[in-house]
Amino acid sequence: MVVTRRALRLMDAGWPGACRRVLVVTLAVVAAAGALAVVGGRRATASTLRPAAAGSCPAPATHPVPSPPVAVAATADGCGYWVATAAGGVASFGTAPPLGGLSGPLDQPVVGMAAVPGGGGYWLVAADGGIFSFGDAAFYGSMGGKPLDQPVVGMAAVPGGGGYWLVAADGGIFSFGDAAFYGSMGGHPLLRGVVAMEATPSGHGYLMLAADGGVFTFGDASFEGTAPGPVLAGTRVTIDPGHNGGNFAAPGIIDQLVWNGRSFETCDTTGTATDTGYTEAEFNWNVARYLQADLEAEGADVLLTRSSNSGVGPCVTQRAAIGNAFDSDAAVSIHADGGPPYGRGFTVLEPVADGVNDAIVGPSAVLGSSIRDAIVASGVEPVSTYDGVDGIQPRNDLAGTNLSTVPKVFVECANMRNALDASLLVQPSWQQAMARAIASGITAFLATRSAVH
Ligand SMILES: [Zn+2]
Repeated sequence: MVVTRRALRLMDAGWPGACRRVLVVTLAVVAAAGALAVVGGRRATASTLRPAAAGSCPAPATHPVPSPPVAVAATADGCGYWVATAAGGVASFGTAPPLGGLSGPLDQPVVGMAAVPGGGGYWLVAADGGIFSFGDAAFYGSMGGKPLDQPVVGMAAVPGGGGYWLVAADGGIFSFGDAAFYGSMGGHPLLRGVVAMEATPSGHGYLMLAADGGVFTFGDASFEGTAPGPVLAGTRVTIDPGHNGGNFAAPGIIDQLVWNGRSFETCDTTGTATDTGYTEAEFNWNVARYLQADLEAEGADVLLTRSSNSGVGPCVTQRAAIGNAFDSDAAVSIHADGGPPYGRGFTVLEPVADGVNDAIVGPSAVLGSSIRDAIVASGVEPVSTYDGVDGIQPRNDLAGTNLSTVPKVFVECANMRNALDASLLVQPSWQQAMARAIASGITAFLATRSAVH
């Protein structure tokens, strides 16, 4: 992957919290502690970099970078650079002349910059596609005030300085001046959003970088391979293993009433068990751990709502809050049912809108269908013969979905009161297979969303 200094993007404090965690500092970082740069993946100090520019550039003078820095652009002589902040301030280093920046509050943070090839000016671009020109940089138009599906995340200038491209998080490209359009990722679902772009030296092409390491090339930009991370890199999944092994001995705690968004329910329950005494709490814990391993192997950040099968709780309200606080891309609660002995099969329980969860009812239905499809495809367990329709059952009585602000479903993996299901679900191999199927469903869900953070 080749990314020049101009392609650097750092996210800023003005973005939603999720943004800051997923973006990759690509090549060059100018840190407040002094001039530091990551070159070829290795961080070096200014003094160790000096030999690369020996003989042509004046000795560097170290001074602080205003915070938070979000973009950098190089001068034509290679002996200077400008650093822009989210607020639009610009600091000059080396031979870079001070050409000004923005002051005062911005509606949208600055997310990128590009220098005029001659070095006499630069453009700043904000997340709404607004362009600000400085020095001899000419204004060729902007997306400011126009509707955008996704925020602009970067820009690149044509070599002659007669135009520029803006790129949005969904890979959409906007061309201005004599910048030609060579294609975009608009309309192609991306697992992770685009974070940076750069033009080829000829100006007849460009490439863009996604947060998962994927590189997309257009025009005369040559695709030289890519090193994307695991498919779920940068995603966050909360797994809630229902109940807890210590609940049986703590009725005073788990019987407390909590408000689930529509009514009162108990803090937690013991869960069900097979006729032979294999508890749902243990089953849930085992499946959750297998699922955690599967998702982590694909690169997801996984959070469990409990850390063992020997504790008590947490309350169902807290289980929802944990998934919300983690800003999960998906959350799943693992259970097994205590249904009628004559019935078997799995059911996915989905939220019903109650105000708090309105925004996630739709995505949760997509998540639920994806998990249902994956379990069916795996053959590990049929859809329920007694609950829901085709393996899906909306529920409005669960704190875990009533109070969720992230896509969330429950999976009742099987019926512990059914003899056949009970004989299967106690087997580690069956638990692993069920976890793999659920992981496949979660992965499919996340992969088809433009999970732009
Ligand atoms: Zn349960």
